[in-house]
Amino acid sequence: MNQSYDRRLRTDLDALRAAGTYKTLRHLTTPMAAEVTMEEAGRVIVLSSNNYLGLADDPRVVQAGIDGLHKYGAGTASVRFICGTFDIHRQLEEKIASFLGTQAALTYVSCWTANEGLIPTVAVAGTAIVSDELNHASIIDGCRLASQAQRLRYKHSDMADLEAKLASLPPDMTKFIISDGVFSMEGDLAKLPQIVALAKRYNGVVVVDDSHGTGVMGKTGRGTIEHYGLTGQIDIVTGTLGKALGGAAGGFVAASNSLIDTLIQKSRTQLFSNALPPTVACSALAAIEQLETHPELLDKQRENVAYFRAGLRALGYKPLEGESAIIPIIVGETAFAIKMSESLLKEGVFVTGFGYPVVPEGSARIRVQMSAALQRAELDQALAAFDKVGNELGLLQANIRT
Ligand SMILES: *Cc1c(COP(=O)(O)O)cnc(C)c1O
Repeated sequence: MNQSYDRRLRTDLDALRAAGTYKTLRHLTTPMAAEVTMEEAGRVIVLSSNNYLGLADDPRVVQAGIDGLHKYGAGTASVRFICGTFDIHRQLEEKIASFLGTQAALTYVSCWTANEGLIPTVAVAGTAIVSDELNHASIIDGCRLASQAQRLRYKHSDMADLEAKLASLPPDMTKFIISDGVFSMEGDLAKLPQIVALAKRYNGVVVVDDSHGTGVMGKTGRGTIEHYGLTGQIDIVTGTLGKALGGAAGGFVAASNSLIDTLIQKSRTQLFSNALPPTVACSALAAIEQLETHPELLDKQRENVAYFRAGLRALGYKPLEGESAIIPIIVGETAFAIKMSESLLKEGVFVTGFGYPVVPEGSARIRVQMSAALQRAELDQALAAFDKVGNELGLLQANIRT
């Protein structure tokens, strides 16, 4: 390694350590579930996974992957348009489309590459992108690649600002309005009914990345769009298979036939990168089928959210209000959030603290993500740890005083 460059890297890393924002990887030795064994901490309760339905180690999801490996081997060693598409890809894509109520769908190796493949392909010269300022990093990077389009950012879920941005553009210009369905750091939902209404007035094409909503929100888990009764009214939906729907990896775009065909022809992360591994496609398909045939998973997940929120409030915590599976607890400074998550880990609860620059300085938080996999006894054990740590760190006394 070039010595002077390596020294510069070490200096940068030291600066992260000094700022308290250095990340340490935790190593798990058992499947993702309600509890996992962590090399660094032993057996812990997991409150920081996107395994919302507990399907990551579901026997049917696991078996589908094993069967897929036997049937298809590891993969085709090719991109899809050359010889890299299996029938299971078509089956999964048809399933995603019918699940979300769109004409068609196309899978990618991740939602990151779905967003990066989609946005620059559709947002060409002469079009505009109007994007929520708190959108996921993959949307931000996708917009960066759409360098020929006019790009505007509106204040988080601020519909007056969105309308002002739309009105500032020529009326007949195609305007892609892009938003997360569930915002991952706040746990709040995009105001989709208003966004759809504004899109109608201003020639907007609505793009919703529902990665944290798919499999979680809505009466039957079809996402934030179903939650609002807007099925069929969102032009383009993107999402991940790496969260509620099995948790392995994979992403998709779901939209009209012509939009999906356009992506097959032109989307660069589709054209120049291998397909979703067939094992993962098999597991994801099984995960969607599990959700469809086991609606009680959603009931359990929602009961758990309500129980844990009520438990936190009874202890004196003030979690941000919201309807999703994400329960953020604002604790102030970044270093404090990190310290609190370390203390909780010592008590056997794995929950991540987020601080600057992921969230604004002063609004560092502990982010709880609730899973259907968790049993009541585990929730009670986790609440006891929140009680102990909150008192030890003086957080609960401060909350009670205010
Ligand atoms: C998690 C997430 C992604 C990334 O999904 P991957 O499939 O892991 O790449 C993209 N967008 C949003 C909104 C997410 O929450």
